[in-house]
Amino acid sequence: MQNDEVLLSVAAARERCMAGVSELGTEPVALVESLWRVLAEPIVAEAPVPPFANSGMDGYALRAADVRGASRAQPASLRVLADVTAGSVSPVPVMPGTAVRIMTGAPMPNGADAVVPVESTDEWPRADRALLPEVVQVYRAVAPGEFVRPAGQDMRAGEELLAPGRVLRAQDLGVLVAAGYAQVRVRRRPRVAVLSTGDELVDAGQPLGPGQIRSTNGYTVAALVREAWGEALSLGIVRDDESEVRARLRAGLAAGADLFVTSAGVSVGTRDVVRGAVEAEGALGFWRVNMRPGKPVAFGRVGSVPFVGLPGNPVSAMVTFELFVRPMLLKMGGRHGGERTRVRARLEAPLSSDGRESYLRAVVRCEDDGYHAALTGDQGSGLLMSMVKANALLVVPAGVTEVATEATLEAILLGE
Ligand code: AMP
Ligand code: MG
Repeated sequence: MQNDEVLLSVAAARERCMAGVSELGTEPVALVESLWRVLAEPIVAEAPVPPFANSGMDGYALRAADVRGASRAQPASLRVLADVTAGSVSPVPVMPGTAVRIMTGAPMPNGADAVVPVESTDEWPRADRALLPEVVQVYRAVAPGEFVRPAGQDMRAGEELLAPGRVLRAQDLGVLVAAGYAQVRVRRRPRVAVLSTGDELVDAGQPLGPGQIRSTNGYTVAALVREAWGEALSLGIVRDDESEVRARLRAGLAAGADLFVTSAGVSVGTRDVVRGAVEAEGALGFWRVNMRPGKPVAFGRVGSVPFVGLPGNPVSAMVTFELFVRPMLLKMGGRHGGERTRVRARLEAPLSSDGRESYLRAVVRCEDDGYHAALTGDQGSGLLMSMVKANALLVVPAGVTEVATEATLEAILLGE
């Protein structure tokens, strides 16, 4: 049990949290489900892409030697042997003095080494293009290989195309399909059991009785889990009763949680039963951090599953999630580089702090001369609207009580 006198620093608390989790395993998913997932296997082309040399234009496949020096004034005249469209194969090879009409994407006929676009022939413009002409007049020369897309131009057989650890984007899904995959192995997403504790809480949409409030933390925390690419598993709202809290924690274990995140009930109130429940179902590490908002934040495990107890105040819950839970989820999900951007921002007005490491809600703007920060107003830890107005958290270091106008502070930018 943590000594009351010794408060952990935010950095030390975060280290303890991070040491308590490791990267999760992998799972196969269908390609349609793979967007924004973390790739967990190297992607290798099973065959060349494109699989065969094909035409890059609608036109005529021919031998470049047959149209050397051709022009509008002196066209080359070639006998047309066949018509080949995308998805079919020419029944005949191209021999000297002949051509095969070809559409974009159709395989190059044997014997042909170049394509002349239809716009450079006497077929263009012509109305009755359904008919295959017997002879075509070609108005330009082409180099061997011109307007031909060779086999393997995009991907060579055996080539590594995408490396593990990458977050899959829309264009990557195209590569997966082209390379021959129908499903792909990705890092498992952390399943986070979210539990709201408190006698006073009612769920969204329910009428309020005397002394009751609507439970917002279950929704904000589950949404933050999803923003951090986790899967939220709601354990609902539970009374401030140790045995009821213990029963919900066991339900979370049974449901296969990778992490527990609770809110409220971890401070020094007479009804704060969460720490006791966690000690009974696992073990408690620290439960107080030298920060504002969010001093009562607990860390431990339920069974062998890591546990974070967020404070009840809605802003404290979100700020401590940001500092402790979000980095844990990124690590578990293998999302390197998903961390928030931190910038130095210049203060527009002086501020004072109580000497604890403080995370103040602020609006940060980027101007020509750098970032500027202004507080969103009243910093009460129960004020949801202070968080709604903010796009950043301004960090006042421990031990600092006054910060002057124009001084710079570190700002954590929330969101993309
Ligand atoms: P506690 O940590 O239990 O002392 O709660 C601190 C404050 O947070 C109290 O004002 C609670 O009513 C409030 N609170 C606790 N849980 C929630 C919740 N799920 N949604 C909104 N406020 C909450
Ligand atoms: Mg409470």
